[in-house]
Amino acid sequence: EVECVSDLEKLQILGSGNGGTVYRVRHKQSSKVYALKVIRGGATDQVRQEIEILRRMDSPNTVRCHAIFEEAFGDISILMEYVEAGSLDVLAKKVGSFSETLVANIAYQSLKGLDYLHSKSIVHRDIKPSNLLVTREMKVKIADFGVSKIITGSENSCNGFVGTCAYMSPEKFNSHGKDFDLFLGDVWSLGLTLMELYIGHYPYVKPGQKAADNPALMWEICLEEPPCMPKDASEDFKDFIECCLQKDWTKRWTVEKLLSHPFIISARQNDFGIGRTIGTKTDNSVLSDLVSVR
Ligand code: ADP
Ligand code: MG
Repeated sequence: EVECVSDLEKLQILGSGNGGTVYRVRHKQSSKVYALKVIRGGATDQVRQEIEILRRMDSPNTVRCHAIFEEAFGDISILMEYVEAGSLDVLAKKVGSFSETLVANIAYQSLKGLDYLHSKSIVHRDIKPSNLLVTREMKVKIADFGVSKIITGSENSCNGFVGTCAYMSPEKFNSHGKDFDLFLGDVWSLGLTLMELYIGHYPYVKPGQKAADNPALMWEICLEEPPCMPKDASEDFKDFIECCLQKDWTKRWTVEKLLSHPFIISARQNDFGIGRTIGTKTDNSVLSDLVSVR
């Protein structure tokens, strides 16, 4: 029903990065609110791929795309559902860290999203907190297919070096084009992301620091042991993260296998965290229920 970009009124900038600028917008005629990602400079091959992937998405755990507008002078605008509570990086900044129950829930939903993508031969390649969106009911939606790829079987894994270094799996830094499984790269990134949400900071740096503050980051990812979960986490949780953060990709668990890990099985039985509303005026009290008190 939104016919062109001029039907939309820009309300606020939600985020901007390499890919473009994302606005919260309102459809003037219907007053419905959407998110609009504006990519400047027109369609590169990668932008075409992002659009192609968005067109194929139809899952509760991936962001929905309603329309794509290409303007004469090259801007491309992607109209998406607006995911009210925003991305997990922003939410994590507000709340500090998440409880294990909530992380288990996020893990389960993200795995379902990845399972969907992988079943369609799509590798995301940039899983990290800022690319996971949540609704006020804590439904998780994977977003940002800006560096994603539809695997056709003919590619060489040496083109695997894309995404965000900080969340990239070790084999991508040192494989020199040797064969590896791109899908398992998404698993590493998810493991690191979930650990970050739980401990409240990027795992390869000290609390309060950013990934960019560690100049030896790539060396550490490749040469050191993977980061260790804190002692207060449950055995299932620690084991789950260990299965994701296997440096040797041949030992890393697939998404499908992780979906039946005990940590995920118990998250499915425990409804807490889903169906709870956040992002309202009373969100502080609800959010404080959800986050850990460490
Ligand atoms: P980039 O390629 O620039 O990283 P993203 O698609 O990841 O672009 O969007 C950037 C940021 O904008 C996200 O991290 C998130 O905070 C916000 N954002 C993106 N899409 C939506 C959406 N559909 N609903 C709400 N916020 C969004
Ligand atoms: Mg992004």
